[in-house]
Amino acid sequence: MANDLREYEIPFVGLKQGVHHFNYELDDVFFGHFPESQVQQGKVFVDLALDKKERLFVLNFDVSGSISTDCDRCGQPFDLPIHGNYTIYVKLGDKREEDVDSEEVVWIPDSESILDISEMVYEFVHLSVPMLKAHPDKAGGVPGCDPEILKLLGQEEEGSQDEKGPDPDPRWDILNNLNIN
Ligand SMILES: [Zn+2]
Repeated sequence: MANDLREYEIPFVGLKQGVHHFNYELDDVFFGHFPESQVQQGKVFVDLALDKKERLFVLNFDVSGSISTDCDRCGQPFDLPIHGNYTIYVKLGDKREEDVDSEEVVWIPDSESILDISEMVYEFVHLSVPMLKAHPDKAGGVPGCDPEILKLLGQEEEGSQDEKGPDPDPRWDILNNLNIN
């Protein structure tokens, strides 16, 4: 069933208390489920450690892999390595007035028996993408881009703006509210 997101639905009711590991391999099919995704191609591994407690789950996501993107500096496509580690708390029950509003805490109703983590995985992959997506520098701070292409670009625009990334996308503000370790 590579064509749906069912593998991201965890039937938590049947799980014993303690830590459970879930491993996911995200590819173009996964990102294809999110047409608005800034990432459309890549190979990203997610190791989810789910710690089931009384009425609480502690979810730790370890994200690592690479995505296909264009270099912000030279415009050429390349595979950008990404890494990240994120923790989120899922509580059973209805959120009450006195509960602190927090992006790290997700409430799910008692009647629920399945936890869908596809949206979390999606967001954490995007949080793992650095603001400046560029070929990694070589030793001595030399840009890892093709020097010939940089030379051409330098001729086109006077004083190239090497170190400046693109303007931050406002959609990132929402993502940034999530906990970043
Ligand atoms: Zn480059």
